Amino acid sequence: KPPIKTPKAEPTLPACIHQTVYVPVHRTTEVQDARLRLPILAEEQQVMETINENPIVIVAGETGSGKTTQLPQFLYEAGYAQHKMIGVTEPRRVAAIAMSKRVAHEMNLPESEVSYLIRFEGNVTPATRIKFMTDGVLLKEIETDFLLSKYSVIILDEAHERSVYTDILVGLLSRIVPLRHKRGQPLKLIIMSATLRVSDFTENTRLFKIPPPLLKVEARQFPVTIHFQKRTPDDYVAEAYRKTLKIHNKLPEGGILIFVTGQQEVNQLVRKLRRTFPYQPPTKDVAKNGKESEDKKEETKEDADSTVEDPKELEFDMKRVIRNIRKSKKKFLAQIALPKINLDDYKLPGDDTEADMHEQPDEDEDQEGLEEENDDELGLEGESGMESGKRQPLWVLPLYSLLSSEKQNRIFQPVPDGCRLCVVSTNVAETSLTIPHIKYVVDCGRQKTRLYDKLTGVSAFVVTYTSKASADQRAGRAGRISAGHCYRLYSSAVYNDCFEDFSQPDIQKKPVEDLMLQMRCMGIDRVVHFPFPSPPDQVQLQAAERRLIVLGALEAANTEKTDLPPAVTRLGQVISRFPVAPRFGKMLALSHQQDLLPYTVCLVAALSVQEVLIETGVQRDEDVAPGANKFHRKRQSWAASGNYQLLGDPMVLLRAVGAAEYAGSQGRLSEFCATNGLRQKAMSEVRKLRVQLTNEINLNVSDVELGVDPELKPPTDAQARFLRQILLAGMGDRVARKVPLADIADKEERRRLKYAYHCADMEEPAFLHVSSVLRQKTPEWVIYQEAYELQNGDSTKMFIRGITAIEPEWLLLYVPLLCNIREVREDPAPRFEKSSGKIYCHVDATFGKSGWDLPLGEV
Ligand code: ADP
Ligand code: MG
Repeated sequence: KPPIKTPKAEPTLPACIHQTVYVPVHRTTEVQDARLRLPILAEEQQVMETINENPIVIVAGETGSGKTTQLPQFLYEAGYAQHKMIGVTEPRRVAAIAMSKRVAHEMNLPESEVSYLIRFEGNVTPATRIKFMTDGVLLKEIETDFLLSKYSVIILDEAHERSVYTDILVGLLSRIVPLRHKRGQPLKLIIMSATLRVSDFTENTRLFKIPPPLLKVEARQFPVTIHFQKRTPDDYVAEAYRKTLKIHNKLPEGGILIFVTGQQEVNQLVRKLRRTFPYQPPTKDVAKNGKESEDKKEETKEDADSTVEDPKELEFDMKRVIRNIRKSKKKFLAQIALPKINLDDYKLPGDDTEADMHEQPDEDEDQEGLEEENDDELGLEGESGMESGKRQPLWVLPLYSLLSSEKQNRIFQPVPDGCRLCVVSTNVAETSLTIPHIKYVVDCGRQKTRLYDKLTGVSAFVVTYTSKASADQRAGRAGRISAGHCYRLYSSAVYNDCFEDFSQPDIQKKPVEDLMLQMRCMGIDRVVHFPFPSPPDQVQLQAAERRLIVLGALEAANTEKTDLPPAVTRLGQVISRFPVAPRFGKMLALSHQQDLLPYTVCLVAALSVQEVLIETGVQRDEDVAPGANKFHRKRQSWAASGNYQLLGDPMVLLRAVGAAEYAGSQGRLSEFCATNGLRQKAMSEVRKLRVQLTNEINLNVSDVELGVDPELKPPTDAQARFLRQILLAGMGDRVARKVPLADIADKEERRRLKYAYHCADMEEPAFLHVSSVLRQKTPEWVIYQEAYELQNGDSTKMFIRGITAIEPEWLLLYVPLLCNIREVREDPAPRFEKSSGKIYCHVDATFGKSGWDLPLGEV
């Protein structure tokens, strides 16, 4: 017989059949009953057979079919958690926490065995068998353990969301799975999606040579009637309110789920609905009556403003974080202690005057929508509604990712007797969390997205229409228990013409420099060739590479071996260790002098957390007079003169962190945050990040032990000057120069351009944001943290915020790669500096493509 020809080493994956061992789980009957109602239970056998026999499987099924909560349990019962862990990644922190808790509950296992880990916290222990985590956390783990040797299965959940990290994980795991297989320690990969749009995974042969099998879980879905509006109102929050009133007043029982775009809108709508339909707990005991409803009121009040939370929570979280870091870092060496803040130094001017600082009342108390409506609009003629006149209480709950997990969990708890459930949510409820008992969905049809310019990195926060796929997901939430209704607050014409079919994967929308650096440090030299499910475009990758070169994280192009991408520098290696954007990593790496580290840590932590300062009364887009925001004047005084003032908006953040610490030590944190316009939740994140960064530095920089020094005073004037330079080193590509007003004759035009700046390499002028403490000074040369564009009628206007003044002669030293040297001067003569062994000479130079003349400077 001729030998059978085997096809040449095409890495076909031999089926690695898992030997099932039954591991019993003891569930309560209540849990068991609920599980049996889930569609995926009916498919358990087929699902498990496919997984046992294939290294990679894709599972697609409607939201709510039981993928996230049940699959880990199937795997556990089949013995996958016996020797190694089952890892589940979620793009959202909310989901990682909520799902780990739910699964622990269903399986009757302690949280030490079914645990979660997100960027700042977690409850993972050595006993953990099932680990829920954010996708970013798993990516970091791959950096230290490429083969993921602690896991037997990785489930990538919510892959349809196409978050950047999940996409990268798919690419990496497509290589890790065969590697693990070669070593005889097979790893299973399960990709889960709520939509059937998985062709980027199945048909991409660069990713998987053999397309993995696709399992569809059929969900029992009741029909949902879709109602479009005739017109598409701009004020969709008001419209959502109106619609909800109508549904509640007219339509039969069933929960209402409302989709708006962001946390502020959620809170605004929740407040309004609660005011219209106050909830009074039924009480039998007259004597207790008064007190109980007091309590309830307290709770509702607190709840309406999600930023107010128990100050003790902060302390508690801190300890937990420290415990966890201690546990998870084997190499733990230095003591973790934040530099203590010298409290009395942080007493801020005006700290004692608080009278006028309380929250403004909601502007509109109007009861629009309460007037008699006709039922036509609800499309429900004939169905009997509530008796008119009788106001049933509405149990209104907010839901968004920054909400504490206890409060999030309320959506799963029983609704008080006689109430109707009403959840106001961001798109968290679209696929990650399934809320029970929803019959009516009110969909504003919009979402908040941050769009980036691929070249300049300028971002714009825009509210855009969602995709058709998202709109259908949202509608689907109404059909879980019985036939439902979805009220779309837009017309069918808008749906057909303005909605894209699917939203683009994140990786094609966002700047990718942190990702690029992370991948390069992992040894992936040619990021261009990486098997992305959908690759970011060339322009974006090139822009990221350029930015990393300017930062000094990658070598400036190697002229000899042009086929090799620029290598990662030592600085780049250090930068990538920090869990913050590369530019902030560089700032940390540079501040290892002049005792600046503790300040840079504070600054970087505050700058990395979104929206630390509340901007009430001023929208991001309004260019109104300074002082219009009640907090602005106060903040102005935090950076009043000298280098404090020149350090500008970051100085305000630095003070805020210090002063919040002071207030916290006095047990006045919530109050302090409220009176100074700080988001308490953000402050606690800043704190967690400070701990993490401090620890990272103690771990990596051998001759520094941060935190043993007793107290952190506010920086001296000289230190503040250094901080300006360090900020410049990180933000060198974000330099702006004031538009010269002297040459402008027209008075009107001069007024228009009072706050205008030219950003290097951009055509349009950008305006200093109204919140900036440097608006009064308008220094000639500045750097900014963020530039963004806003729609203003037909035109757009660009703003810059997070402003720091710099000196132009620093540019040659800190951002040499963006300077062009025209001439080296002989006079003044070059000078030799003994201590550094360097020769300095004076040069004539310009900055950036715009060719701004720099003052004669030394290099
Ligand atoms: P999928 O991942 O397919 O979207 P899930 O596994 O998340 O589905 O949800 C399955 C079911 O479990 C849903 O009906 C959901 O309402 C329910 N569920 C999830 N978390 C909780 C919880 N904390 N309490 C009660 N029910 C929950
Ligand atoms: Mg899920």
